[in-house]
This record gives sequence, structure tokens and C-alpha cells, in this order.
Amino acid sequence: MALDAARPGKGAEGLSAYPPEETWDHVESLDPAAWPKRVRRAHRLVPTTCFNCEANCGLLAWVDKETGQITKFEGNPVHPASRGRNCAKGPATINQVEDPERILHPMKRVGERGEGLWERITWDQALDEIGTRIGNAFREERHHEVMYHVGRMGDDTYMERVLHSWGIDGHNSHTNICSSGARVGYATWMGFDRPSADFANAKVIFLISSHLEAGHYFNPHAQRIIEGQQNGATIICIDPRLSNTASKADHWFSAWPGTEAFMLLAIARLLIMDGTWDEAFFERWVNWETFLTESRPDLEPVFANVGPALLELYAEYTPEAAARICGIDEDRLRTVARIIGEGLGGFASHTWRAASAGNEGGWMVARCLQFLTVLTGSVGTVGGTNANGWNKFMPVTPLHPEPQGRWNELQWPIEYPLSHHEMSILLPHFLKAGRGYLDTYFTRVYNPLWTNPDGFTWMEVLRDTDKIGCHVALTPTWNESAWFADYVLPMGIASERHDVSSFETHNGRWIGFRQPVARRHRELEGETIERTYEANPGEVWEEQEFFIDLSWRIDPDGSLGIRSQFESIRDPGTPLTLDEYYSMLFESSVPGLPEAAEALGITPLEYMRRKGSFELAGDQTQVYERDVPAADLEGAVKDADGVWRRPGTAGSHDSLEEITGHMPFIGDGSPAVDIDGQAKLGFPTPSRKLEFFSETIRDWGWPEYSMPTFIRSQVHWEDLDMSAGERILVPTFRIPTLIHTRSANSQWLNEISHRHPLWLHPSDAEELGIEENGLVRITTRIGHFVIQAWRTEGIRPGVVAASHHMGRWRLEDDKARSWGTGKASVEQEADGRWKLRREQGVEAYESDDPDTGLIWWTDTGVHQNLTFPVQPDPVSGMHCWLQRVTVSPAEPGDAYGDVLVDTAASHRIFEEWLAKTRPGPGPDGLRRPLWFGRPVKPKATAYRYGS
Ligand code: SF4
Repeated sequence: MALDAARPGKGAEGLSAYPPEETWDHVESLDPAAWPKRVRRAHRLVPTTCFNCEANCGLLAWVDKETGQITKFEGNPVHPASRGRNCAKGPATINQVEDPERILHPMKRVGERGEGLWERITWDQALDEIGTRIGNAFREERHHEVMYHVGRMGDDTYMERVLHSWGIDGHNSHTNICSSGARVGYATWMGFDRPSADFANAKVIFLISSHLEAGHYFNPHAQRIIEGQQNGATIICIDPRLSNTASKADHWFSAWPGTEAFMLLAIARLLIMDGTWDEAFFERWVNWETFLTESRPDLEPVFANVGPALLELYAEYTPEAAARICGIDEDRLRTVARIIGEGLGGFASHTWRAASAGNEGGWMVARCLQFLTVLTGSVGTVGGTNANGWNKFMPVTPLHPEPQGRWNELQWPIEYPLSHHEMSILLPHFLKAGRGYLDTYFTRVYNPLWTNPDGFTWMEVLRDTDKIGCHVALTPTWNESAWFADYVLPMGIASERHDVSSFETHNGRWIGFRQPVARRHRELEGETIERTYEANPGEVWEEQEFFIDLSWRIDPDGSLGIRSQFESIRDPGTPLTLDEYYSMLFESSVPGLPEAAEALGITPLEYMRRKGSFELAGDQTQVYERDVPAADLEGAVKDADGVWRRPGTAGSHDSLEEITGHMPFIGDGSPAVDIDGQAKLGFPTPSRKLEFFSETIRDWGWPEYSMPTFIRSQVHWEDLDMSAGERILVPTFRIPTLIHTRSANSQWLNEISHRHPLWLHPSDAEELGIEENGLVRITTRIGHFVIQAWRTEGIRPGVVAASHHMGRWRLEDDKARSWGTGKASVEQEADGRWKLRREQGVEAYESDDPDTGLIWWTDTGVHQNLTFPVQPDPVSGMHCWLQRVTVSPAEPGDAYGDVLVDTAASHRIFEEWLAKTRPGPGPDGLRRPLWFGRPVKPKATAYRYGS
């Protein structure tokens, strides 16, 4: 449902919520800066999409037609997900455009790495030097020494094409500090690794995250959660903090962190006991036969035995036990179980970071939450919870090269065969342990030294040219990691680049198009622009054109077979342009777009440039029930389990050599499953059903986790010595007005949010002797940090919390100061421990922007992540963010923002957690299940361990 494009109001100037779309090429309005004079200014409104979180909401950039400058950003009313609405971070994009400290030109290190000495170079020099280096690595068969490590992706498919073209298994991501836990929980149920909740139409909204202010797809989800509540849905929230979401919830459970799965299973047991579960759905779509035959061979494999067997399996998960283990109210638990049971088919649920990213076994929280979605028959229903892949639309890129035949163990080590994404946080430890070397390491909109746990270990490795030969930071802003780069190459923000993306924001499908606004404006004015940096501020570029040109420099004569992937088809022998690339993409890969464009008499590319998004037609409700036509079964053979298997696919169990070309991103290539004699699409799992019993988990070394269960975490409250000051630290929650590592470059956002308190319950404060605003020392296993207390009843006693946004620092006075970084010093003590000391907070300063002289706040927060050892979950690989800490008043000599870390201890803890794993190879000598999703998926033969 789209919001009205324009809601006319009253007034002499014909005020409306949004200028009507047909006027976007010329909108006149009064200049507020000229008030009280009535000065009219003309703008062109150019659609693009926000780059400040994953949601990719639509934006309209207002370009002053006289100056060519962007004057503001507002929502794009025709964007199907955001519908014209944004959070504060969308309009604040203008701050990033105008940031006085932004990087405007390519820079190259001239002193020692990390010394802070730079020279400005041309793009041509950067491309030549980096391209030659990578080309040499490829010619010498050192493909594993080139890595691209991405933080904020922005685009869904482009880099896969680049890396496949280069033939490297070189993709690395931030996902195992973010979401790989939840992904394993979801993927092992349904193949798809994310939920897509239809909040607006739900009867019950169940959230294990602070969705209304900071959760996944924040603004598009938040507006629909409120719609759902206004339509009568009950909101249930689990969060140790009284988040904004908890404050809006009808039922808030401040459960002990790490016990969420227990609570979910207690609800599941109540539903089954009360008979308020959707048995018909369970019988039709869940692999219950496998559950009975594998776990209860004593029972006849008939559905009538499923309910009793489930009750026996979950006999210990009583409300009484849940009340004790989780620290929640037993009656309230029964109440919500009744509400959930009354809302069958309308259970919209979500967990993403939160518990799934905090605890050892956090992936099981997602698996247990999905169990409730399944029990309530809410999978893919209106008002239920769909699979992300049925609401997110990913166009197949044109000119798709063959996948790489290589497997890089620096990202995909054999110890973690079920990790959903790369073991990113372990990279510096692997390099330290001599498990590899990086010749050329790209960080792209990624600041691992600051964002990841154990940042001083990252710093040690980033400084070490024997471990990383060349670090290329592709970044819009200075940051702690870019400081330790060899090249710092400025990349565009939301209005300065191309990207195509889509997300599962609601019951529907759409695709959004980010575009360089100034370039679009100037081209409409008749200018010819060859490269986006010609139109952007300074020489700020975009990755997509950069990688086309870089690929030419890597393979100038075409002998590596790379250049041909980046040559124009229309004009052979010249580089591919993004106009040509996106013309092909939009003409061939987005159903309905060519027809919609034709109806307007324009090309599909022009349609996307004018509107910024496209909504795909079609109903995505219960997609798994779709009939598969006989033509699609041609060549496939139905096996004993009723699954049609096609030769030459992973599900056929042919040899790896017979599986050729691209494997599906997820699933094993089976086209259908037999349901009551009909070929149905089903789910992309080996059984093509929802897998309550996961043979994959069992066969890959974790039989005790083959069914949803509770895993006791590294911060289980019963293991804590509270009398000695031990508490659970929750360092993961977001502030809705800040952007991970890039907030420091946004004036408005820092003016709104610039405090970093430690949430602490008054009863804990009293027990620990901590005053309001008093300094607190938080001691982890590898060090400590010093922060300021905020006594609040909005947190569970026994738990303390600090947002993960704050604590940015810089080493120099005059670089990257902007609006939210503190000048700091970093020193190594005699015993080898690293010490970060904040020398000053943010303060007013003179620059081209007069507003920098008006900065009135001082706090920049505390870089707590430095003190966290890596704690990768042994199954999912997800970093377990929650910390078992000792909370005490600050000691003499402690100062706010102090951080002390022992990286030798952090390496020992890395080895400790590594020892918890059950390494592959798994069945058939494989490194990983073939049907699991994987970024930049290689050829099947690369899955053979030892290949
Ligand atoms: S939720 Fe906010 S930050 Fe995220 S894309 Fe939308 S406007 Fe941007």
C-alpha cells in the first residue's frame, strides 16, 4: 500500500506533504534562510536511497537549480518500503555531504603505517599502483592474498560479480559481529536465513530486539509495527532494557540475557499442551516423520504421535521452570501463551541482533522463535512471518561470470563448517597464527579496529606490513582503521553513488535504486559526465565505477580473462559504463519494470532514475504452496521422501565435478516436493519442508542441537558471582539517531545524541557503591574501561548496558574531528598492554563550516569494544557480544574513557573458543553443506576439503 504521493494542505503556497511526483523536475519554494523576505528558489528533486542503515529508505535530494548544490534530503513518497518517512538519519545525510572533515581526494601514506603522514594522489596513480599489485598476485597464483572486507554493503549483487570475475574467494563481511547467529537459526528451519514479518496485519507481534527505535529495517518496520498495534495487534517484547519498543509493548519481559530460548520453548510447550497450535500446518509442512524416526524410533511414525512426543521432549520447560531460569513472571508467561494461541496464523515475529548476537547458542534463540511461528501456522501468511527471500527481490546480474574454484580458509576455516558467514573477527588472530598473509586488503565502509571486538589486536595486525602488505581503505570518512591504511580512497555517501538493493520490509517486493544526485542533475542540464567523481564533491568516487577501472588495470591486456567482464558490449574495447550495466539489469532482470517504463514512454533505467524504486507485482503469501508445473520437473526424479531431485545439482548427490555452473544461493537445486500427491514448491531445505529435526546439524557434528533447545550461554546468570561484583554487560543496543562508525560526521545526529551512560539498576548501584554519574570501572577478561553511571530502573538488576555507538577517537588534532570524536593517545605499557586515554572530548573549532564553532557538547563516549575478547559461537560463528564483567567504582588514577587491554590474553581466549569447535570436514569430505547460503558462492568442487 503506498502513501498518497501528495496530501494537499492549505496556505498561499499550496503546502503539501510531498511535492507531486510530476513536479519533481521543477519545484519552487520559499527560501527559509531569506525570511522575512519571500524569496522563491527552484529545486530539482532527485530520488536516491539512504545509506545510513541497511533499510535503504527512499530519499529525495533537493538540488538548487541555480547553484547545483543539494540543500536538503526528504523522504521519497513513492518508495514502497519507507513511503516517504525516514528516521533522523535520513535527512541528516545533508550533514555528511557538507561535513568539513570529509575525505575529498585519494590519499597515500608517506610515513610509517599509522604515522599519520599522507600525500594527495590522483585516481590514476591509485588505480595503477593497486591494479598492478593485484594483477601480479593473480599472475603468481596468490589469489588468496587479495581480500575485500565490507561493512555497509549498500548493493545486493554487484561485488559478487566483481569477485567472481577476479576468480577469488576474497569476500569478507561484518556479519559475524551482526547477524550470523540468527541466520543459522532461521536457515536450518527453512533455508532462508531471515524472517520477514508482516507486522501491519499481525494479531501478535513478538520482538526479541528493540525494533521500534533501532531494530532491523528500523523505519520501514517501525511504522508497520505501530500500524499493527493500532489495528489491534498485541506487542510482546523481550529485552533486558526498557527500550522504546519495550515501553510501547503490551507485555515486556526483562528476561535474564541468555535465557530467551528457554522462555520460547516454555511458550511452545503451553501451546501444544493447550491444543492451541496449528496441527494441520505442522503435519503438512514440517518434517515430523524425520523427527519421529530419528529421535523416537520406539514410536510408530504417524502424526498422532507428534504432539505427545513434543510434550515429552519439552517436559522440563514448564512455566515454573521458565520463571526461575528466565527470571520472569509465570502468570504473565501463561497469559502471552494464551494470546499467541488465540492468534494462530497471525504471529509476526523477529529477532536479529539482540539475543541471537549476544549469547553462546544465540542462534538457537532464532530457531526457537521460528518454532513458535511454525506452531502457530504463521509461516508466510497475511499477518504472519514470511521468509526473507520471498519478500526481498534480488535481480540476477547480467554478464554473470563463472564462480571461483577457490576456497579461502582465512574467512571460511574448517573449524566452523556451519558458520553462516565469514569468520571475520578471527582474521587478525589467524594472521598472527601464521595461517595466511594478505597482499592487498580492502576495507570498504568498514572500521574493524573500532567496530569489532578486540580492536587492539586489529591495530597490531593493521600496523604490521609482514601480515598485510597493502591496506586500501575505501571510505567516505576518516576512521580508526583508515588511519592504518596505505591508501585512503574517498567513496560516496547516499547521494554520490549507484547501488541496487531490496529488503524484506513488509508483505511485498520492491527494488530501490541509489544514484549520484549531482551527476544526475548535471546530466539533465545537458552535461556529459564520464566518471561520477567529476560531479561529486572533490574527487569522491563510487565503488562500482572504481572496480570497473581497477579491473582494467589488473588485467590491461586481457590475458587474465578479467578485463573482458568489464568491457562494454555496445562499444567493444571500451570500459563498461554503469548506464549500460543498469540498462541491461533493469531491462532483463526486474519483472514488470520494462512494461511499467514503456507505459510512460521511457526506458527502465530512466524509470528508476526518475522514481528511485519499483514495486513488483504479485502475491507473496504462502509461496511454498505454489504448484510446480510439470515442465519445471522435467529431468527431475522423485525420491523416497517425495523430493524431486535434478541431476547435476547438489541435491542429486552426484559427484562434485558433475555439479557445474552456479549453485543456487541457497537450497540444493531441487525443484519441488510432493504434498498430498501434488508437486509443491516448498522450502529450499534438503527435505523441501520446514526442518524441525535438522539432519544437517546432526550430520555436521552437533546431534544434540538437531531440534530446538536451550543452550546455556557464556553469561548465564547462575554462573556469576554477584557478591564479587560480577554482572552481565549488554554492549549491543543501538541509539536510533546514531550510525555505527559514521555518526561522527553528522552534526545534527551528534547534537541529538552525545552521551554514553552505563545503564545500571539502582539496587546494583547501591550494592556496588556507585553514585549517579559516578565513574565505573568495567573489567573484562582482557582489560577494562572506565565509563559513567546512569542509575535507572529501566534495566534488569544484575545487568548493565552501554550503547555500541559511542567512543570514537582520533590520534591527531586536525583530522577527523568533526562532531563526535575525541582526541586520544594510544600507548603500549611495559608489560605489553595497550592503553587508550581520552585527552579531550569534542569541542568547538574553526572550519569552513561556521557551525563547528558552535559545538556545545563534549562527550564522545567510551570505546568499550576494545576490551572484549573474540567469543565466536562454536556452531554459528557469531561473535557472542555479551560480557561477563566485574563492575566496580573507578580506582584512583582512572579517567573517563580509559581503556586498558592485554592482547596476549585476547589471543589465549581466541584459542580457548577455537577449542570449543567441532571441525569439519563433514559428510562426503565437504567443508560446508552445499545447500547452505554463502556470499560469493564458489564452484561445488571448492567444497571438497583439501581442494
Ligand atoms: S531507517 Fe533511517 S537510517 Fe535507515 S535507511 Fe531509513 S532513513 Fe536511513
